[in-house]
Amino acid sequence: AAQYVGFDSITRQIEHKLLKRGFQFNVMVVGQTGLGKSTLINTLFASHLIDSKGRTEIDTQPKQTTEIHALSHVIVENGVRLKLNIIDTPGYGDNVNNEGCWDPIVKYANQHSAYLRKELTAMRDRFIPDTRIHCCLFFINPTGHTLKPIDIVVLKKLAEVVNVVPVIAKSDSLTLEERAIFKQRVMAELQFNQIRLYPFDADELDEEELQLNERIRDMLPFAIVGSEKSVIIDGKPVRARKNRWGVINVEDENHCEFIYLRNFLTRTHLQDLIETTAQIHYESFRSKQLLALKE
Ligand code: GDP
Ligand code: MG
Repeated sequence: AAQYVGFDSITRQIEHKLLKRGFQFNVMVVGQTGLGKSTLINTLFASHLIDSKGRTEIDTQPKQTTEIHALSHVIVENGVRLKLNIIDTPGYGDNVNNEGCWDPIVKYANQHSAYLRKELTAMRDRFIPDTRIHCCLFFINPTGHTLKPIDIVVLKKLAEVVNVVPVIAKSDSLTLEERAIFKQRVMAELQFNQIRLYPFDADELDEEELQLNERIRDMLPFAIVGSEKSVIIDGKPVRARKNRWGVINVEDENHCEFIYLRNFLTRTHLQDLIETTAQIHYESFRSKQLLALKE
């Protein structure tokens, strides 16, 4: 029999290295003012955003976001370190003349050239901190009608450089029926405008992963509700909103799709969002740049 060499320990070696380094995950939220971007961030990660004094980040943040604001947190779950970087952006399109108002946001979303510069100057094997945006959550106004022309423009620009995941903001303002129709309408519009959304089907995906992606695509855009407040339901505090129909439990899948978004972001697609950023978005940027250098 062949001699046992022992390289099967490589999975443990890789794991050890990855755990030591931890994972870096950069999420950006984009959309008009007042759609609940800051609220959603706090809903997604609030239990983790509490500092040692028991104060939450929420208290220290200004109520209205006026500039691009990056918030970093290290979350540890069962020995896995996640360095979470959340980029909150001010709403755009609030002015009479909105020419170029999205420029700072699109520029921030495109961290590829900064990374390429570091890659070209860094020593080959040195670890480069990943500042590239892995996921851009795009907030859609729950009008029930169509997207604004400015949204199409911004979405187009963003989808060229990052993974874009659309969400219907404040979906508690729509009935389930209105929500279903609005979703279809938005997806048709995005398709018509050839806006390429995440997830992508790469060749290496297996049957199970392809099916999961299909399910995600069928659900997009995630109809979400955010809340910074808790309401007691069945004796337990849950994130919820009270409105004229009653209490909307953020974490109840019969009320909204917040849970699906959270599972997607943190449980099923975190690694793929990071890999797709490096392998698809960054590589396409890089090859274009290097080609341009040759000419
Ligand atoms: P941003 O400008 O996009 O960051 O929006 P904010 O997070 O500051 O939220 C604006 C207002 O909308 C606040 O009063 C929130 O309490 C409220 N809001 C946030 N999320 C929701 C939601 O899902 N449903 C409803 N009805 N209101 C929300
Ligand atoms: Mg805000």
